[in-house]
Amino acid sequence: MTTNPLDNKRVIKIKESIKDIKNRIEQAAILAKRKVSDINLMAVTKTVPPEYVNIAINEGINLLGENKAQELNSKYNNYNLDDSIKIHFIGHLQRNKVKSIIDKVSMIESVDSESLAREIGKQAIKADKVMPILLEVNIGFQETKTGFNPKKVKDAAKTIAQVPGVKIKGLMTIPPKDNIKYYFEKMREIYIDISQKKIDNVDMSFLSMGMSGDFETAIAFGANIVRIGSLIFGKRVF
Ligand SMILES: *Cc1c(COP(=O)(O)O)cnc(C)c1O
Repeated sequence: MTTNPLDNKRVIKIKESIKDIKNRIEQAAILAKRKVSDINLMAVTKTVPPEYVNIAINEGINLLGENKAQELNSKYNNYNLDDSIKIHFIGHLQRNKVKSIIDKVSMIESVDSESLAREIGKQAIKADKVMPILLEVNIGFQETKTGFNPKKVKDAAKTIAQVPGVKIKGLMTIPPKDNIKYYFEKMREIYIDISQKKIDNVDMSFLSMGMSGDFETAIAFGANIVRIGSLIFGKRVF
């Protein structure tokens, strides 16, 4: 395999950013009177070459977020993975791609329909496992976004809880950019509401929200997975 030489400036930037973000997470946790160890920092790797993702892994990142099945499959073998490093799928997932990622990810955060949950369950059983999933909530009712209608997510949780091969572990969202506090608060309400319903086979352990521009606010509203891409790896060029 040929490897490109690393851009040293980019390497330094990644290392500094991770240190800086960890400090900011700690400060946000203190402000929110929460334990910093409860907050999981995910590095979102979309468009980032695997050699730079490996720099982040070397800096102690142990959770990667992947948006596209094809991209994950093409980069997977070049990641320096060990058992301590987990990959979560966070992008829109087509049912026919589930099979190709089922052995590579430890959680699928972007479950946006019952039919997708059923396919994940089917493939998980074939792979002899139970896949932890989060239900994605379209908290801003945005037409351009996938995810469950916030009014229907509790019923969806009840139904999907019965699907063999999956285990609901919480909620995920990408809220609209403005009025962010309003949407984070709404997410927290739904999260608590579903927790209190004590649905069989549903455990609300994770609330995944907050990205480069708003992760501290998300922590104030109870997020325990923050998904950060551009602030770690630099602006994406599409
Ligand atoms: C790209 C992406 C992120 C990270 O966004 P940044 O603003 O670059 O931090 C988080 N979550 C999802 C689902 C994404 O697609």
